[in-house]
Amino acid sequence: EEAAAKPGGHNILVAVRCRALLPQERAAGGHAIITICNGTTVILEDPHTTAADDYLRLNKSKERRYHFDQALEETAQNIEVYERTTRFLIPSVIQGFNATVFAYGATSAGKTHTMLGYPGEPGIMLLTLRDLFSEVGNQKSNLHFEIKCSFLEVYNENVRDLLRQDGDFLDIREDPVKGMCVAGISEVGGLESAEEIMALLHQGNKNRTTEATGANVTSSRSHAVLQVMVHQRDRTADIVAHVNLGKLSMIDLAGSERASQTNNKGMRMIEGANINRSLLALGNCITALSSAVAFVPYRDSKMTRLLKDSLGGNCRTVMIANVSPCHINYEDTHNTLKYANRAKNI
Ligand code: ADP
Ligand code: MG
Repeated sequence: EEAAAKPGGHNILVAVRCRALLPQERAAGGHAIITICNGTTVILEDPHTTAADDYLRLNKSKERRYHFDQALEETAQNIEVYERTTRFLIPSVIQGFNATVFAYGATSAGKTHTMLGYPGEPGIMLLTLRDLFSEVGNQKSNLHFEIKCSFLEVYNENVRDLLRQDGDFLDIREDPVKGMCVAGISEVGGLESAEEIMALLHQGNKNRTTEATGANVTSSRSHAVLQVMVHQRDRTADIVAHVNLGKLSMIDLAGSERASQTNNKGMRMIEGANINRSLLALGNCITALSSAVAFVPYRDSKMTRLLKDSLGGNCRTVMIANVSPCHINYEDTHNTLKYANRAKNI
């Protein structure tokens, strides 16, 4: 049995989402250097080579074009992002396959907006859960379902339960039945609706580690991981029914900006190195999987260890690379597009 393939047939769907210029960016003289075409192409203009003779003389194009499975422009709301990227995962998770959705990008590019959203514009996490619950509802007469949920943070290569206040560091283990799991993590069961989970998420999000850095007043330095476990059992089976477990991980990654850019010292510097370690490891694993290399370096970071059973194989992965359109963010945007482009070459 095969998990529902991504439209196109590959295991990873790569999308780029560009947000609108923010009022404060506009007020500071910022202008947009990103153009989205045909729903799949991203054109990045290099703000350093705007004078025509400059780039002609340097024999360099002032723009770069990238092609992705989906390219979402500033007018796209979360619901459209969801429908064009993540919705296709629902049937396979219900069938018992694992899947991962993550939002990548520099701080303020729109990752949390995309994944968590707001009460007026729910993000991918809630939109996915709504569909999951409604699909489970449709299949209830034949199958028995139980949905459980954990919410954790990876910060400085330490794992913490976001649904608990104590802040203890937890270990990642490999369980023969559950696969990769976090020892002692809260698993909230008896969940009936996406809204219940959303309340948990908002509560948990307040426990996330956010610190001031040189680059931003508050910057998300942690990776937040929502894991939804769908246990499925045949109602009609006699004696011991086979239990399918599908696990869906939805991740709001830490900002991808380089530590060097924030001019941080000491602890913040260490943080930066660890963030890069997880993000680099994630990129390396995806590249290894995509090129069918036998060795996938899952052990290189906490994030990739945790996702060992949720990336590659029969799993489906969705990457939503978030970018700011503002010329000020050119370097970060360029790096994000390169990272996403590398993931895509499968
Ligand atoms: P990140 O989590 O990547 O640091 P945020 O999601 O917090 O970034 O977004 C940074 C700012 O941009 C926030 O003020 C947010 O409301 C705004 N923003 C992000 N994405 C969008 C979008 N698609 N449309 C409108 N505003 C957005
Ligand atoms: Mg954020």
